[in-house]
Amino acid sequence: MTDHCDRCGTPKTDTDPVEALSWVRDTDERGTRWFCPRCARDHLRSIEAKLQSEWW
Ligand SMILES: [Zn+2]
Repeated sequence: MTDHCDRCGTPKTDTDPVEALSWVRDTDERGTRWFCPRCARDHLRSIEAKLQSEWW
């Protein structure tokens, strides 16, 4: 099974080893998803927004 970005579909193996370290793993009850560094930035913003809406 190949890890790939959940948003843009870029295979994790296509990135160089240094950039692969910047990939973000998101684990929830449905399993594990990976986000490439570019998508992770957008994704983390939405995670934070979601957390804040739960907190408030
Ligand atoms: Zn991506």
